[in-house]
Order: sequence, then C-alpha cells, then structure tokens
Amino acid sequence: MNHKTTIAALIGWTTTFGCSGSAPPPQTPARSTLESGSSLPAPAAAAPSKPEVDVALPSEGGNPFAHARFAIDPGYVRQIESAVRESPANASAWRSVERYPTAIWLSSIASVAGISKTLDDAAVQERKAGEPVVTVFVIYDLPERDCNAVASNGELSLANGGETRYKTEFVDRIAATFRAHAGQRIVAIVEPDSLPNLATNLDTPRCAAAERAYRQSVAYAVKTLAMPNVSLYLDAAHAGWLGWSGNRAKMAKIFSDVLALAGGPDKVRGFVTNVSNYDSLRGGDLAKLQPSDPCPDELTYVKLFAASLAEVGITGKGFVIDTSRNGRSGIRTDSGSWCNVRGAGLGERPRASPAPYVDAYYWVKPPGESDGASDPSMPGFDEHCGSRSPDSAAGAPRAGQWFSTYFADLVKNANPPL
Ligand code: BGC
Repeated sequence: MNHKTTIAALIGWTTTFGCSGSAPPPQTPARSTLESGSSLPAPAAAAPSKPEVDVALPSEGGNPFAHARFAIDPGYVRQIESAVRESPANASAWRSVERYPTAIWLSSIASVAGISKTLDDAAVQERKAGEPVVTVFVIYDLPERDCNAVASNGELSLANGGETRYKTEFVDRIAATFRAHAGQRIVAIVEPDSLPNLATNLDTPRCAAAERAYRQSVAYAVKTLAMPNVSLYLDAAHAGWLGWSGNRAKMAKIFSDVLALAGGPDKVRGFVTNVSNYDSLRGGDLAKLQPSDPCPDELTYVKLFAASLAEVGITGKGFVIDTSRNGRSGIRTDSGSWCNVRGAGLGERPRASPAPYVDAYYWVKPPGESDGASDPSMPGFDEHCGSRSPDSAAGAPRAGQWFSTYFADLVKNANPPL
C-alpha cells in the first residue's frame, strides 16, 4: 500500500482553503450545509462569494452496518492465538482483541476460494445472534496493484493478461459467491489506493500506464459486485493525501467518471478513508506536519469530501473510516510515512453511525499484519519500510504477514484503551 502522493503533486494542488471556514456541523439529522472550498486564494474584497453546497447526509436505512453485528474473522482469531502461544504472558491483553471485527482481504485469486467458508461462518454467528451479521471484504488484486509503491505489488500485470484474469478469475468468482449468499449482509471495499493514485501519481510511469486498466477494472468490479445484499465503498485515500481542495476535486471527478462507466453513483453506498493509515479522527498531527492542508483529520476530511462529491453531483454517500491503527497521534515525523509506523495504537472500536456522514468506524487493516518488509533483501522491499524511513518499525515481515512485536505495541498503545 502506498498512502501518499508525491510532493510535486501535492504542491501542484495545494490550496489555502481552511476547514475552519466551513459552516458548523449539521443542525438537523437530514441535511448539512457546507461551504465548498475554492481552489485559489483571492483578495477578500474582490472574491465573489462561492455558492454553498447542500450536502445530503447518507440515509440511515441504507447503512449496512446499522442494526447489525459485525462478523468476527476466525482466521484473525487463529492468528492471535498462535501469537499467544509464542508469548503466553500477553495472553489476556492480546485475546481481548479477538472480540473485534476485522476486514477480510481478498488479495489474490487464490484467496477467493475462502469466501464461501467465511460467509458460512458468518451465517452461524448470525443464527446465534438472532440479528443480521455484516461481513466486510477488501477487494484487492487489481492489475499493476500499488502502482506508486513496491510493498504490495500484486500477482496481476498488464503484461500477463491481468486485466482479463481480474475480471474472470477474480471479480466474477467473488460475485458468484456473494450471490450464493444472497441472504447475508456483505460490505466490499473496492481496491484501496487505486483511484487516488490516478488523482495525484500519474507522473509515476507505472501508474500512468495502468490508468485505463484501473478505471475499467474498478468500474467492472463495481458493476459486477453491486447487488441488493452487497454494499460497496470506493477508496478515497485520506486527509493527509487528498485533503487539499484541488486534490479533492480531481478525485471527485475520477469517481464520477468511473461510476458513470459502472452504471451510476447508485451502485455504491459510499467511500472508505484512512485504509491502513494513521490519521486521527479529530485533531492530530496533520495540522503541524502539513499546515496548508485544510483537512487536519479524517472527520474534517469526510465532511469536505462529501462537499467535493456534491459538486460533481454525487450526494448522500456514507463513509467508512479505518480506525485500526489511528489511536495515537504525533508519532510521525513525516505525514507521508505509511509503513508500520512506530508507536501506533489501536483506534476507536468498530461501530455503526458514529458521526455525521460516517456509516462506520471499522478495522479495515487487521491490526498486527505488516505493511511491508523492513529488510532490503526481502522480496517486495519498499524504501518506505526500511531503516531509511525514520518512522517505520524494524523487524517487519512482508506485507500482510503477522508482525507480533508490532501487534504488541498496537495493543499497548490502544486509545481508547482496551
Ligand atoms: C497487503 C495484503 C494484506 C493487507 C492486509 C496489504 O498491505 O498487501 O496482502 O492482505 O495488507 O494486511
């Protein structure tokens, strides 16, 4: 995963629009009025007043997380149990994490084979609970995946026929399994980092070469996976990456184009932010690290992003915010640090409807899984994960693998505490 735009792209789109200038939080449960950001600072006297954008809040009835339990991934519980066997002294603290839901990442064609069992397990939890259980998947196997970084490059490329394989061997098979579980609530988070890379990182040749395939493949995934029991969320990066009004506008336009290809904005329930990242919900270190960014935190970002979406005619969307590792702030020296950031702690526990515009806080990145290897001799080594990155923890295994000492720190630093 790469969570940051290049400096050049940032400077190009940085603006001085400030969140502090936006209207107060919504006064009614139905709608909120936000002032939209202008992209150029202009002399106050001459500035024409910008029309206000009326931004509809998402419908509570369409929130898949509402009035439901969240599925516990038995695979994640097994991972913690095996860590406990190696370190029995930590058993009670570590086991307390087992009761929290995490997303299930479908990161390869092979991983599709496990979906049916995952949903069967959720059906058992549902019968026991006597209320709906929602299972959250991350769809993550795009051709030329992670085009602006190395740690999470995937198995599919344009050269190996990846575009067709993505459709027929990955998306179509996921869709068939979702359809076979039509009675269950499913959330699918579609391709973290992919479209945000198109907003700011087209100066990276691999991203430029993959642009058409990214747009077509994401649109295909949305069109194919949208069904009555499946709620889709597209990845909208995070405050530290796309907070500036120019970046938000570019991103909103890309969403509008891709959703048009997919059959329209109604195909998705909303957007997900902060996936595998460390931005705080409120306050936090961005105000200091990126003073020109009008969005110092994720809750500000989702409000202003909803306004940017409204400007391209997309309204009423819900947001999911990944709170798996954003409990502690002030741990980064560089807001672009994205790999196993040292000192991180578990954040808010997953829950539905915690704030305006937010369908749920959720642990999208399973806490304890690595972002990338820290040893340069390991496959998939990315400079952002190594010793030259001052914020990254040492001793890290490859992306997605269990990183016990990191898990220990996340638990110790949990905020709120466990
Ligand atoms: C990795 C995936 C993994 C996911 C969740 C990503 O960075 O590339 O393989 O499943 O993180 O840990």
